[in-house]
Formats: sequence, structure tokens, C-alpha cells
Amino acid sequence: MTDKLGQIKDTVDDARSGRLIFISHCLLNQNACVRGLASQPAAIRELIDLILDNDVAIYQMPCPEVTYYGSMRWGQVKKQYASPMFRKHCRNIAEQLCDQVQTYRDNDHEVIGFVMRDGSPTCGLLRSAVEADENQGWVGMVWNASPLQRFGETKGVFTEELQAEVERRGMKDILFLSLPEVAEAGSFSDRLAEIKKVITKKPQQQLASV
Ligand code: SF4
Repeated sequence: MTDKLGQIKDTVDDARSGRLIFISHCLLNQNACVRGLASQPAAIRELIDLILDNDVAIYQMPCPEVTYYGSMRWGQVKKQYASPMFRKHCRNIAEQLCDQVQTYRDNDHEVIGFVMRDGSPTCGLLRSAVEADENQGWVGMVWNASPLQRFGETKGVFTEELQAEVERRGMKDILFLSLPEVAEAGSFSDRLAEIKKVITKKPQQQLASV
């Protein structure tokens, strides 16, 4: 203890915007993608610039695949990832994320929503890799196979678990948005325009002084 106290800050006002958005891990860290799927060297710049230019803070969600399988993995499809074990893993992440959403919301911040990744069997929102092509047998070693992915209009496993948790907590106003990781999963520019509409909209509420 010292009696030489510095000047006490007499206000709790600070520079924060009070707005934040949760985004899929690989949108900020392209190194998390399955090899062959990273489309930019570090991050999806168009999205990150858009978010920061509008004074919205970024919460980077954990990557469910890297935290389960590690960073060196083959790409899989929803048929494989939909196991009870991977679902439980996704549910755990979803619960922790929803705790985070809740604590910010309970303290007067605006959580705009989640930005997911279309095409991913895990994080897809509108479209996910669901199956291998019809010539594949689910046998043998992966190096004997060269499957083509089939995309379907379905959510990824993590998105399903996250939406279930959001619903369970009654957080009806949280938006689910997405950006495709491959062209087969949708139009990047259309989805980015959708996100832009939401982000540039007037904040729902001003951050109240605490
Ligand atoms: S889409 Fe989801 S699972 Fe795939 S790399 Fe990105 S964060 Fe990980």
C-alpha cells in the first residue's frame, strides 16, 4: 500500500462504441482453414475493414474444427461431422459463446449477431458441404479416395448447435449472417452487402452510462 495515490479517474466514460459482432474464427485467421480453402493471406479484409470502419468490435469465435482435430486436417462433410461427439464439442463452444453474448447484452452493449461461413460443414448457415459424390464408398484410407463435395441448403453442425442455444436463451434479436468460403456456397458480394446493411444501420441503443 502507498499513500501516494495518483489522480483518480473521475468518470467511467470511455471510447468504446458499445457494439460488437461475433465472427467465425477463420474470417480473422485464414490459417485455420483446411488447406486449399484459404482465399486470402491473413483475414477476409473486406469484412474486417467493413466492421472496423463502422466502429464495431470483433469477437472471434473459436474454430470448432481446429479445437477438435487440430490445424492439419482433411476437409470433411456434414455426414462425418454430425457425430454425437462433435456435436457435444460444438454445443460446449456454443454455450460459452452465448454466455459471452449475454454478459455484454446484460451490460448495455449491442451484440449485432454472428457471421458464419457458408460452405463449411461446421459453420455453414445457408449452405454446407453435406456429402461426398456418389462414387465414394466410405471405406479404406483417405489417400485412396478423391471425393468431390456435394453442397446442400442446410446448416453446419456448429451453426445448428449455436442456433439451438440462442433459441434456448430466448435471444430472438440476435442475427445470423454469413459469408461463403467457396463460390459453390453462394455469392460473396451479395452476402457482404447484406452484412453491410446491418452494420451500417443505426445502433439499437446508446450505451448507457454505468
Ligand atoms: S468455417 Fe468454421 S470450422 Fe471451418 S475453419 Fe472456419 S471457423 Fe473453422
